[in-house]
Amino acid sequence: MAENWRSLRVEGITLRHKDWGEADRLLSIFTRELGKVQAIAKGVRKPRSRKAGHLEPFMRASMLLARGRSFFILTQAEAIDAHIPLREDLTLLGRASYLAELLDRFTFEEEANPALYRLMQHSLTRLERGDHPAAVLHFFEMRLLDQVGYRPQLQRCGLCGQEIRPQNQFFSAAHGSALCPACGEKEPQARPVSLQALKYLRHFQRSTYAEARRARFAPATLAEVEALMYYYLTYLLESSLHSPAFIQRIRQHKSRR
Ligand SMILES: [Zn+2]
Repeated sequence: MAENWRSLRVEGITLRHKDWGEADRLLSIFTRELGKVQAIAKGVRKPRSRKAGHLEPFMRASMLLARGRSFFILTQAEAIDAHIPLREDLTLLGRASYLAELLDRFTFEEEANPALYRLMQHSLTRLERGDHPAAVLHFFEMRLLDQVGYRPQLQRCGLCGQEIRPQNQFFSAAHGSALCPACGEKEPQARPVSLQALKYLRHFQRSTYAEARRARFAPATLAEVEALMYYYLTYLLESSLHSPAFIQRIRQHKSRR
C-alpha cells in the first residue's frame, strides 16, 4: 500500500470493535478502497463523541482515515446506512455477525476487493429487508469462496476428474470438491452429499442473487447445505488463521507506547 497520503476518505462497514485504552475503540472495518483495516477511533466511548453513533457493527459509513504507526486513526465518520434493525433483533444480529465474521476471517488487511465490499453491503441490506436468510447467507458464502480462491468444484470429481452425475455424491473439504461415489467411499474424511444439496449449491454458484433466491428447496436440503458449508468453511479457517499476525501488531503497538 502506498504511503504517500496522510488522510484518506473511504467508505467502510464496521465488522467488529473492542474497547481500547480509556476512551477509545479499536475497530475492524472493511473498506471499499483499502479492504480490511484496523483503526483506532479516539474518544468514542466518551458521552459527547460525535463519531460514536456512526461506528456500530454493520454500519456503512463515510470515514476519514489517517495512517498511524501501527493502526489507522479514524478521525471522522458519518453513517450512510445505519442498519439499526440488524442490531436490535437478536436473530438478525446473529446472521449479520456471521457475515461479518466470515468476511473478517477470510480476508487479509489492506487487500482491496470492491466486489467483496459490494457483496457485504448488499447482503446486509437483504437481511434487513427480510429476505430468506438461507438465500442471503448461502449466496454470500458461495461468492466469498469465489473471491478468496476457494470456489468449490461441483462439476467434476476432485480425484478422478469424471463428470459428476445426477446421483448422491460425496464432498471433500480437503480437495474443495465433489467426489464421485467410487472415489468418495475411499476417502475417510469425505462427507456424503445428496443430489438435492448438490443441485442447490450448483444453483447458488452459477446464479445471480435474483435467480438464486427464487429456488425452493425442502427444509432437509437446507439443513444439509448448512451443515456442509459449516464443514467446508471451518476446515478452511483452521488451516489459515490470521490472528497470530494481529497479536504481533498489538505487541508492537504496546511496546511503542
Ligand atoms: Zn472420482
